[in-house]
Amino acid sequence: GGFQSMGLSHLIYKGIIKKGYKVPTPIQRKCIPLIMDDKDVVAMARTGSGKTAAFLIPLFEKLQTRQSTIGARGLLLAPTRELALQTMKFFKELGRFTTLKAACILGGDKMDDQFAALHENPDVIVATPGRLMHVLVEMELRLSCVQYVVFDEADRLFELGFHEHLHEILKRLPEDRQTLLFSATLPKQLIEFAKAGLNDPTLVRL
Ligand code: AMP
Repeated sequence: GGFQSMGLSHLIYKGIIKKGYKVPTPIQRKCIPLIMDDKDVVAMARTGSGKTAAFLIPLFEKLQTRQSTIGARGLLLAPTRELALQTMKFFKELGRFTTLKAACILGGDKMDDQFAALHENPDVIVATPGRLMHVLVEMELRLSCVQYVVFDEADRLFELGFHEHLHEILKRLPEDRQTLLFSATLPKQLIEFAKAGLNDPTLVRL
């Protein structure tokens, strides 16, 4: 099964080809159909496995086109600024033929810039948890339109002490959403978190 057998939309397929991907990586081959089928997924995947495209391609399929009149429908959480910026870069490259817009909400950026970014009603927010919590409180940002949530490098999110922020963020998300967790390892704490935040998830491992 290649990308062409996954039933992807033309503009999304074109973005994949333009990025130079010819065949899906094993994690993509397993995750993309499950995610397109609306399943919550816990995927054991490390950097280098192609995990970013594994959650971006179905995100593009689900959101499809820009909706500038409602709140963000996708939320991608990363442990570090560097990873979030990398995800943003892949979003722009793979999604170049879509009209979707993403904004970064990252520790270290100026609050004024974050406000301006959110003012444009992005379809997707790529964030680190500390800054996202800050913005949720200070700007009364709502996550009521979010349908698709990714916890990327979830083990690192926990190692960096974001546990409480993550629970706070979960509480603010609509019940009716799709949630994905990508992690190199699955410590007990993370399994507990997945039980609380994901709905009957499918476990993907290679
Ligand atoms: P990631 O694990 O998401 O950080 O991706 C690791 C590297 O693999 C990145 O440089 C991606 O651009 C690349 N990559 C992801 N999917 C594919 C694919 N299907 N074919 C070739 N390279 C890929």
